[in-house]
Amino acid sequence: MSVSGGCEICATGDAAFGCDRCGKLVCDEHYDRESGWCTECAGELRRPRDRTEQDEDDGFDDGVDTYRVD
Ligand SMILES: [Zn+2]
Ligand SMILES: [Zn+2]
Repeated sequence: MSVSGGCEICATGDAAFGCDRCGKLVCDEHYDRESGWCTECAGELRRPRDRTEQDEDDGFDDGVDTYRVD
């Protein structure tokens, strides 16, 4: 079955929006209204470097060391 007009990220939602950056057609869930981008582009903007998701909640900030061991 081919679903025309499906979200290009989740493939199940209705593609109701177009990303201003990559041109992807995405559903409401995968569209960032503030930026006008899809969540993939908006996510890239927020964190330019790819991080492993499990580290996100760790309060682990590279470059900002409050304690250093010499
Ligand atoms: Zn979607
Ligand atoms: Zn995009």
